[in-house]
Amino acid sequence: MTYDILVVGGGLIGMLTARNLQMEGYNVALVEKNKLGSAASWAAGGILSKLYPWQQSDEMQQLVTQGQASFPALVEVLKNETGIDAQLLQSGMLIIDVAEQQTALAWAKKNSTPIELLDRKELNQLEPNLDKKFSAALRLPTVMQVRPPLLIKAVHQSLLKHGVDIFEDAEVTQLVLETSKVVGVKTKQETMFAEQVILCNGAWTQQLLTRTSDLKTDIEPVRGQMLLFKPPQNVLSHIIIHNGFYLIPRQDQFLLCGSTLEYVGFSRSTTQEAKELLHLHACKICPALKEVEVLQHWSALRPGTARDVPYISAHPQIEALYINAGHFRYGIVTSIPSAKIASDLIANKANASQISTYAW
Ligand SMILES: Cc1cc2nc3c(=O)[nH]c(=O)nc-3n(C[C@H](O)[C@H](O)[C@H](O)COP(=O)(O)OP(=O)(O)OC[C@H]3O[C@@H](n4cnc5c(N)ncnc54)[C@H](O)[C@@H]3O)c2cc1C
Repeated sequence: MTYDILVVGGGLIGMLTARNLQMEGYNVALVEKNKLGSAASWAAGGILSKLYPWQQSDEMQQLVTQGQASFPALVEVLKNETGIDAQLLQSGMLIIDVAEQQTALAWAKKNSTPIELLDRKELNQLEPNLDKKFSAALRLPTVMQVRPPLLIKAVHQSLLKHGVDIFEDAEVTQLVLETSKVVGVKTKQETMFAEQVILCNGAWTQQLLTRTSDLKTDIEPVRGQMLLFKPPQNVLSHIIIHNGFYLIPRQDQFLLCGSTLEYVGFSRSTTQEAKELLHLHACKICPALKEVEVLQHWSALRPGTARDVPYISAHPQIEALYINAGHFRYGIVTSIPSAKIASDLIANKANASQISTYAW
């Protein structure tokens, strides 16, 4: 059998790309080397914002803004389709003791993003469990969060409902080419054929491409470790950002602390050093956590790139090959517009600006 489209990699990016394409009327197969959503997409915090939103290019800003605007509708549709609620929550975000206050305020004004500057007293009233030493914070009241494991579960069920053929435990080992056109992929089990192939395999994208093409992306794995706490009662209501680290309070008392940024190749181990570092930062931000045990500690590999935007593009040399990868720290918030641009590219509906902005 020949599929219309073969999507390689079943993280959130591949899953939503497959879903869009199937809904466009294509016959789609999604091929995943482990289980759907078990890599970076599962491990993520689910913050629907950049950590320091003013530190981004206009192109990334566009993708993030579209993602933020699209999440409520997708979560609702998924809830109706599958009964699974990805727990979208507008918790707001507090960025503490930022040196770049004026830049942040100017950025917010330019982008019509609500933002408030809080002094020590206001901060203390809003979040009494933060360390009292903090003197100011920026509050972005509209920032939302989702629960990535629930989102993945919901999208998985939706893919089954829409009739996407899902192949798990099927590692793609090679692309199959006829002259300079891709016609399918080899997995460890079989050869699968398709009219078009799109690589959505996150941190492993360049590894697979290397076997086929001299043209490189700069995508590389960047490990991130996280800790999970469950204090006896909710200690925070906002997402808190401080010195590059963050705390994400869920509604059911779970609280995540993230994350490290480590260039250690494809190792997905957790380390004692990172556990201690994250614990230290968590307790510095919210001293009440000193008394709370760490319930879980995990790590995953982000698809890192030095560009500010992902690669969402046709391969410049291999016909019928596409890529939607390199979302680095922001592949949850940007997943919906990225999947839309990718499926528009394949369906020849993308506009010139989309084609050039995310090009190879
Ligand atoms: C600790 C941490 C916290 C994060 N927090 C946030 C956040 O708060 N907000 C946000 O927006 N983003 C966050 N991110 C980033 C986000 O998780 C990623 O950008 C996003 O998940 C990337 O999605 P993906 O589908 O490209 O990659 P992945 O989820 O890694 O999926 C790629 C998939 O491809 C599969 N694959 C690889 N090679 C092959 C092959 N040869 N054949 C078949 N399948 C293959 C893998 O098994 C994997 O399942 C975080 C990431 C980490 C690690």
